[in-house]
Parts: sequence; C-alpha cells; structure tokens
Amino acid sequence: MRMYVMRLGYCDVDKGQILTPGIGDGVHMLIPILSFLVETDDGARVLIDTGMHPVHIEDPEHTFGNGELNEILRPVMTENDTLEYRLREIGLTPGDITHVANSHLHFDHCGQNFLFPDVPIYVDRRHFAAARTSPSFPAEYIDAPGLRYELTDGEHEIVPRVRTLASPGHVPAHQSFAVALSESTSFVIASDAIYTKDNIEFDAWGSQDDPELAKVSAHRLRDIAVADDSTLVYGHDPDQWRELRLSPDYYE
Ligand SMILES: [Zn+2]
Repeated sequence: MRMYVMRLGYCDVDKGQILTPGIGDGVHMLIPILSFLVETDDGARVLIDTGMHPVHIEDPEHTFGNGELNEILRPVMTENDTLEYRLREIGLTPGDITHVANSHLHFDHCGQNFLFPDVPIYVDRRHFAAARTSPSFPAEYIDAPGLRYELTDGEHEIVPRVRTLASPGHVPAHQSFAVALSESTSFVIASDAIYTKDNIEFDAWGSQDDPELAKVSAHRLRDIAVADDSTLVYGHDPDQWRELRLSPDYYE
C-alpha cells in the first residue's frame, strides 16, 4: 500500500486574515494546496481532494474576482500543479483513479473533480446539501459534466484502511481521513479541520465557520493521531509540506 502526497499549487494568503486571526495579521505567505493518492494492494486508487481548477493558471482571479478577497487570498498555480501532470509523473492518468473523496467542496479541494466523471466521488450528504445553498462553494467546480457523487452519512470506510473522520467546524460536515498504510506508517489527513500547526499551538479557531465546533474536531483529530501514532497532516501548513515526502516519492 502506498500514499503519494501531491502539491497542486499554492495560495498567497494573509496569515491573520485567513488562517490564524490575531496572529500574523498582514503577513503574507504561500500555503500549499495538497492532494493525496492512496494505492491499495488490491488495485484501488483513492484520491483525497483535487486542488484548484487549472483555470487559475491563467486567471488567478477567476474564483474571487479582483476585489478585497483577492488581497488576502490569491491562487498561484502553474501547469505542473494539475492532477494530470502529477499523475503523469507517476505513470498514471485520471482514468486510473477508482475513488475520489472530498474533505469539503471549497474551490481548493474540489477544483479538479471535473477530471473524474464516472468515478464515485464521496462527499458527506449534509455537507453536500449545505454547499448547494452557499456562495462559498462555487457550483462551477461541483457541477462539472458527468460527475457522480456518492453521498455518505457520517464516518465510513472508503476502502479497507482508508476511512473518513467527521470533523465539522470549518464548514458543516467537513470530513478528514485516516489512512493506515502499514503497522508502522499511518496518517490523519486533517484537511481544513486544521489549517496549520499554529492553529493547534495557539488554539486559534476564529477563522473557522463554527470556532467552538472546529476546536472540538481539531482536538479529536490530534488525539486520534497521537493514539494511533499517526502523522497529522495539516490542510495548508506553509512549513509542514516541505518535510513531507512529495510525489513522485511516496510513503508505504
Ligand atoms: Zn482549503
């Protein structure tokens, strides 16, 4: 069993405005956009989150326009940050993916869902319903032609050794993932339940939709990671990704 960690570009953010209110206000940094590919021994290939749509390569303002938000959150993406490129690097095409799962449907987590028509895309049912009624979740990325969403209810196993962990607070019914590659190598992929290490260290949840709920979810994810001796992977940590083994290298 293997897991590839793929970097699909960055966002240039104002740390305090986007990640940790009150800590680093006005400080700009590049945060990574990540996707994870888990290959099982029996041939399943599960992709967790799909990054930003490649439209942002030419048009970084495509999703948020050129207004105020663009000052604090700006996509930075090149041709090498597409899933097609990252998969090609390891000898695969989108057609080789058997399952897709989105932690949630913000633009930086479902932007390349369009590559996977006819592949089951696992999203929490309550999250999907919430995303349908909020402008925070642009329909153009969710509704690409031919996509087949498998709406799920609570925590479940996608394939053996890859399971979802309910982690609401960032958005309604956000989900994180536990991936157990072997007895000694396992991960808790927090996604945006925990943006960065600083959120945990400073217990800073003010930028989440529901800060109290986000705090409970984040502490639970951290406790699971500690209990299972798993690596806790943050959603957008500007430092942690440099220490991760990035694709085409992999964990096993
Ligand atoms: Zn995100």
